[in-house]
Amino acid sequence: MALVAVAFLIVLHQAVVQPMLLGLSIYPPKINLAGRQRMLSQKISKEALALASLPPGDTHAQRRTELLDDLQNWKAVHYQLTAAEVDFGHREQNAIAAALHDLDAPLEDVVATATVLALREAGQVTEPLDLQYLLDREAAFLGGMEQVVAQLEQAAERELVWLRGMGLSIMAAVVVMLASVYFVVLTPATRLIRAQVQQLATSEVEQRQLSQRLARARDELEDRVAVRTRELSAANAALANEMAERKALEQRTLELGTQLAHAARITALGQLATGLAHEINQPLASIATFADTVEVLLESPSSDRGALEGPLAQIKQAALRAGAIVRRMRNFVRRGEPSLTRVDLNVLVRDVCELCSPQLAQAAVELSLRTSATPLEVEVDAIEIQQVVVNLIQNALQALAVLPRGDRRIWLTTSLVEQEGEIEIVDNGPGFSESALERSLAPYFTTKQDGLGMGLAISRTLLERYQGGLQIENRSAGGARVVLNLPLATSHEIEPGAATHTVCR
Ligand code: ADP
Repeated sequence: MALVAVAFLIVLHQAVVQPMLLGLSIYPPKINLAGRQRMLSQKISKEALALASLPPGDTHAQRRTELLDDLQNWKAVHYQLTAAEVDFGHREQNAIAAALHDLDAPLEDVVATATVLALREAGQVTEPLDLQYLLDREAAFLGGMEQVVAQLEQAAERELVWLRGMGLSIMAAVVVMLASVYFVVLTPATRLIRAQVQQLATSEVEQRQLSQRLARARDELEDRVAVRTRELSAANAALANEMAERKALEQRTLELGTQLAHAARITALGQLATGLAHEINQPLASIATFADTVEVLLESPSSDRGALEGPLAQIKQAALRAGAIVRRMRNFVRRGEPSLTRVDLNVLVRDVCELCSPQLAQAAVELSLRTSATPLEVEVDAIEIQQVVVNLIQNALQALAVLPRGDRRIWLTTSLVEQEGEIEIVDNGPGFSESALERSLAPYFTTKQDGLGMGLAISRTLLERYQGGLQIENRSAGGARVVLNLPLATSHEIEPGAATHTVCR
C-alpha cells in the first residue's frame, strides 16, 4: 500500500506538478520583457520629443542614431514576444497573444512616425510630421502593453494559486496516505510485533521455568532409576540365588524321585517275591531231579554216555530259565540314573506279564493281553515304564481280592491313539472309591492298611517326565480303568505287524 502511494505521488508529480512549475517559470521573463517594452516605448516618445525640439548639431545626430536603434530593438522584441506567445497554444496565452497582436498597429505607427522624424531631422525627407499622432499611438501602445502585463501577471497568479492548491491537495493526500499507512499498516503491525515480543518474553520465561521443571524431573527420574536399578540388581541377585536353590531343589527332587521309584520297585518286588520264588523253585527242583538221574546213570555200569545227554539238556534248560527269572528281577530293581532307549510298548508289556505271571497265577487272576498290530516305539527308560505297568497290575490284583477266585479278570491292551502309544489296564473289581477318583493321583492317598499311597503318584510323575500322562476312571460295566499314554518316538516308519492276544494265568 505504501509503495502504491509513493508510486502515485511520483506519477502525480511528473504528470501535473512538473508541467505546472515549467509553465510558471515562463511568466517572469515575459513580464520582464513586457515591462521593458513599456519603458522602451516611453523612452522612444521622449527621444522623439527631444529630437524635434533640439537644433541640428552633433548631439542631434547622436540622438537620431539612438532613436533609430531603440526603434529597431523595440520592434524586434515585440515580434519576438508575440511569436513566443503564439507558440503556447493555451487559452489564456491565446488571449495574451491576441492582445499583443492588437499592439502591432500602434507599434508600427510609432515606428513609422519616429523613423520619419529621424530622417526629416537628418534632412533626408521633407514629409510633414505629426508629433501628436506619435504620442497618441505611443500612449495606445503603452496602455495595451500595460494590459498585456496585467494579463500575464494574472495568468501567473492563477497558475500559482492552482499550483498551491494542487500542492495542498497532494500534501493532504500524502498526509491521508501516511495516516492510513500508520493506522492500517503500522499500528496493527506495531501492535502485532509488540504482542509477539510480549509473547516471546512470556514464552521465554515459561520455557525457562519449563526447562527448570524438566531438569528437576530428569534428576528425580535419574534418582528413581538409580534406586530402581539398585533394587532390581538386588532382586536379580536374590532371583539368581532363588533359581540356583530351586535348581538344586529340583535336582534333589529328581534324585529323591529316582530313589523313591527304586524303593517302590523293591516294594513291588517284595510283593512279586513269593510268586518268583515259587517260579525259581520249579527249575531248581527240576535241576535237582535231573542231577539225581545223572548220578544214578553214572553209577550204573551198563549205562552209556548217550543216556546222560537228555537229563543234562534238561538241567541246562532249567538253569537258563532260573537265570532268566533272576536277571529280570535284577533288572527290575536296578539302581541308577535312568537311561533312555527306544522300546516297543508291546514288548514291554509282554515282559511285565511274564514278570507278574507267577503272582497272577497265585492270585487266580486271568490277564488277557491284547497288543496292537503296529509297534509302539517310545523313547524311555524301559524299567521305569515296566515299574508303572507292574504297579498298575498289582493295584488291580489287590482290588480283585474281594472277588471269588474264579471271577478275577484283568484286560491289558496296547494301541495307537493320535500318534501316542496307549496302555489300558482294566479290571472287573469294585473300581475306585469316590475319594480315590479325586485324590489317588496325589501322593500319600491310600485306602489300604499297609499301603503307601505313592504308586499312582510316582507312576504319573514318571510318565510326565516323558510328556506322557495317566488317567483313571471307573467303567460303566463295573471295575477300574487306568490308561497311560506316551508320545511315540518320531522319524521312523511304523512297520505294521500282527495284533496278538495272550492270556496269562
Ligand atoms: P497304594 O497302592 O499304596 O494304596 P496307589 O497310589 O497305588 O497306592 O493307589 C492309591 C489308591 O488308589 C489305592 O489305595 C486304591 O484305593 C486306589 N486304587 C488303585 N488302583 C485301583 C484299582 N485297580 N481298583 C480300585 N481302586 C484302586
